[in-house]
Amino acid sequence: MGKYVIAGNWKMNKTPAEATELIEAIKPLVKDATCDVVVGVPFVDLCAALEAVKGSNIGVAAQNCHWEKSGAYTGEISAEMLKAMGVGYVILGHSERRTYFGDTDVTVQKRMRAALDAGLTVILCVGEYLEQREQGVTGEVCAMQTKIALGGVSKEELARVIIAYEPVWAIGTGRTATAEQANEVCALIRETVAGLYDGDAAAAVTIQYGGSMNAANAAELLAQSDVDGGLIGGASLKPQDFATIVAAAK
Ligand code: PEP
Repeated sequence: MGKYVIAGNWKMNKTPAEATELIEAIKPLVKDATCDVVVGVPFVDLCAALEAVKGSNIGVAAQNCHWEKSGAYTGEISAEMLKAMGVGYVILGHSERRTYFGDTDVTVQKRMRAALDAGLTVILCVGEYLEQREQGVTGEVCAMQTKIALGGVSKEELARVIIAYEPVWAIGTGRTATAEQANEVCALIRETVAGLYDGDAAAAVTIQYGGSMNAANAAELLAQSDVDGGLIGGASLKPQDFATIVAAAK
């Protein structure tokens, strides 16, 4: 299965000074990690975060990027700009962006294209709303989001795509998917990738689970056969909890 990656999504939290402090606290706790470790920070914290992670095993992610390289897009940040700063990763299609800021499968696909062209690694978020789970269409929703976002992505480029299965009802709610639910959908996403590419590509792609993963439930979720890591919101702001999750990703 894919390489284990534990990524924190700090959302709209921490000033630059606080970002430095948090990374300094995390660094010694994850230095022996056997998985990849990433922190997804607000745009204004990127400089401080890139400075703080120097010489460590921690990568830095932005939480979004625009699909154009430059232009009249007030308030936006391009993938090229992120790459030029030294940022390695970008989170795309997070449900909070889809729900509150109008991101759609189509704009996620465009952002994906721009991010890959710029040389970034993408953490692509997919996941169903509670109503969709209750209607029995979780598989269809996640497969559709995955297929559209990966439209035009070559097999070589797929090596720079991490997929995060994030059921919307589990994000920030304290309500985690059961390990079985998480594994079932991660497996389905892997099958979708196999259908788009081939079995090798599906086996190699990293598929994370995200949604109220914490220090107490991480080991069980990460032990599932199709779960190759986690996208962690709230618990990524607590150094010891984040480190416990990283240690569980073996
Ligand atoms: C997230 O923001 O991607 C997330 C999974 O948040 P939380 O862990 O707080 O549910």
